[in-house]
Amino acid sequence: TDFKSDKQPTWCPGCGDFGTMNGMMKALANTGNDPDNTFVVAGIGCSGKIGTYMHSYALHGVHGRALPVGTGVKLANPNLEVMVAGGDGDGYSIGVGHFIHAVRRNVDMSYVVMDNRIYGLTKGQASPTSREDFETSTTPEGPKQPPVNPLALALSAGATFIAQSFSSDAMRHAEIVQEAIEHDGFGFVNVFSPCVTFNDVDTYDYFRDSLVDVEDTDHDRTDYDAAKDLILDMDKEYQGVLYQNEDAASYEQAHGLTENMAEIPDGAPDDATDLVREFY
Ligand code: SF4
Repeated sequence: TDFKSDKQPTWCPGCGDFGTMNGMMKALANTGNDPDNTFVVAGIGCSGKIGTYMHSYALHGVHGRALPVGTGVKLANPNLEVMVAGGDGDGYSIGVGHFIHAVRRNVDMSYVVMDNRIYGLTKGQASPTSREDFETSTTPEGPKQPPVNPLALALSAGATFIAQSFSSDAMRHAEIVQEAIEHDGFGFVNVFSPCVTFNDVDTYDYFRDSLVDVEDTDHDRTDYDAAKDLILDMDKEYQGVLYQNEDAASYEQAHGLTENMAEIPDGAPDDATDLVREFY
């Protein structure tokens, strides 16, 4: 199945988002999804353009608010495959509150964050994941504060699936996103997706040289304490599924929300009923 739309991306040549998106499309196709039953919700930023470039239902949402929109779409129609996309600025700054609550709610959808450790669309300001000493236009001496650790935030909020991938490691990235889609619950993947225009520190070469794949270690993804040790290890960058709890019920399972909620409830006002019919 082809998830590529006929729109040409306007990302800078060489941007990591190309590889991130290709992996997302490959993963969706590999899991047997069709564009007709796939809904991509994106936030604001370079990453936010992704819905335009994918051949599926899509919504380019409000800054930092892609997750609540995706949650609403999924709960309204649990038959849809919902994938939410965003960047580190969108997801871990203005959207960080939604991130924590989406994680703990554990709705069965995936969240792919294109983490380039910089604000790209607004031309190179420090983001929540920028290094402490990273000199940018708004932080000429660096942010002087430690970066947010999104994997640690997710773990502490009760995540059931935490993974990290690299946009340039095409096969592995697609495989990891596929696992997130297949996970019964909230599948979170932080993707190192280099910004070639504004970040000359977290580059392709840097990630190629420093990434350690958990598949090449004896890491047990079901071991919470082992996952915590890796996630809090600030000296290394890890790729792979760091944590998965397959026993936890998704929000839908826990609350019996597996039927299509597009059914018109008895007693709904006429105008609301018409609106719902029109939408579906
Ligand atoms: Fe990609 Fe950076 Fe260009 Fe944005 S500014 S499209 S993140 S390379």
